[in-house]
Amino acid sequence: MEADRELFSIIDAEQERQNTTLQLIASENFASRAVMAATGSVLTNKYSEGYPGKRYYGGNRVVDQVEDLARRRACELFGAEHANVQPHSGAMANLAAYLAVLQPGDTVLGMRLDQGGHLTHGSPVNVSGRLYNFVSYGVSESDERIDFGALAELAERHRPKLIVAGATAYPRVIEPEPLRRIADSVGALLMFDAAHIAGLVAGGVHPNPVPYSDIVTLTTHKTLRGPRGGCILCRAGLAAAIDKTVFPGLQGGPLDHVIAAKAVAFFEASQPEFAEYARQVVRNSQALAEALAAEGFRLVSGGTDNHLLLVDLRSFNPDLTGKAAQEALDQAGITLNKNQIPGDPRSPFVTSGLRIGTPAVTTAGMKEPEMVVVAQLVRRVLAAVGGDPQELDEECKAVREEVATLCSKFTPYP
Ligand SMILES: *Cc1c(COP(=O)(O)O)cnc(C)c1O
Repeated sequence: MEADRELFSIIDAEQERQNTTLQLIASENFASRAVMAATGSVLTNKYSEGYPGKRYYGGNRVVDQVEDLARRRACELFGAEHANVQPHSGAMANLAAYLAVLQPGDTVLGMRLDQGGHLTHGSPVNVSGRLYNFVSYGVSESDERIDFGALAELAERHRPKLIVAGATAYPRVIEPEPLRRIADSVGALLMFDAAHIAGLVAGGVHPNPVPYSDIVTLTTHKTLRGPRGGCILCRAGLAAAIDKTVFPGLQGGPLDHVIAAKAVAFFEASQPEFAEYARQVVRNSQALAEALAAEGFRLVSGGTDNHLLLVDLRSFNPDLTGKAAQEALDQAGITLNKNQIPGDPRSPFVTSGLRIGTPAVTTAGMKEPEMVVVAQLVRRVLAAVGGDPQELDEECKAVREEVATLCSKFTPYP
């Protein structure tokens, strides 16, 4: 058969893009060659509906070893009693967790989307918001950190069956202990969605939510740096219910090649080098925050203690939107995303903020000095937005060349 040159040249173009431009999307990373080798292995050929030792089809002796290894490594890495490594994504993991412990119409507390929560935490456009009665909590106006006092009052008033913690755009540590206390005070279950911070937990730089939570969901492809996918950790008492809702409740056959790659990622995350990576991710985002503040940008909550920061663009230029900033930076080879900031007067499609993350550039080897350069490049582009379009074009081109020079010293896939 003829080789599919058309498709593979497109993939080559993507590899070139990842190698030569700055990847600052907070939910992205560069998976290792080993993770990608497992994802591209013969395991993609196998059907294995069910769980190890209880499959619907034959020929699963080897696949059982893969899934058992992945489950054991997940439990050891996070100190969990049970792991389900089959969810195809973080969204599937969350839905499975909800289906396991909730009835339609049940009340759930989740973080407000415009203050850092995720779509799957009760957005009306997501199935979570359609099936359940989500009530949202948020950050306090004064310090832009989770308002635990208000959260406790909401819990008291609404008596939720479940409290969902975790966020997709929140730059601070989320302490699991006060959440557990609030859940206990109203007899609610606690689910911690660690999609973004799983790698920081595994690397020991953020508190582990597992001992405090009934269920912890995570993605394996964000700070954890594995293949694209989800995972659920839970207490032994919930294991049967969780397993049943993942399969046959929600999904068909598991992606055995991805489960193998999750096993690789759990192994890599248990190594001493990974703890150093996790520490450097936070050091880099703090260095970037400091450098951006020095360039005149206000940071939501004043800084960061995780892998991401939220920039309030209004301090730099009140007319500059997140949308315009994202587009200009993209032109300059700096990839990141627009994001609402707490109390944002602009819509989620326009926004007044940017979300910037350091996991990928940290994996590529960048450290604090490079973060100072990145902040300067970001400022140069954004200072030109809204002025003469030709000058903006030229500045983007100039910055793009400097970005390429910087990235040539930190190439993820040489
Ligand atoms: C990314 C994310 C998810 C969803 O993960 P997908 O794999 O994209 O479905 C869920 N919850 C949070 C908090 C996230 O950040």
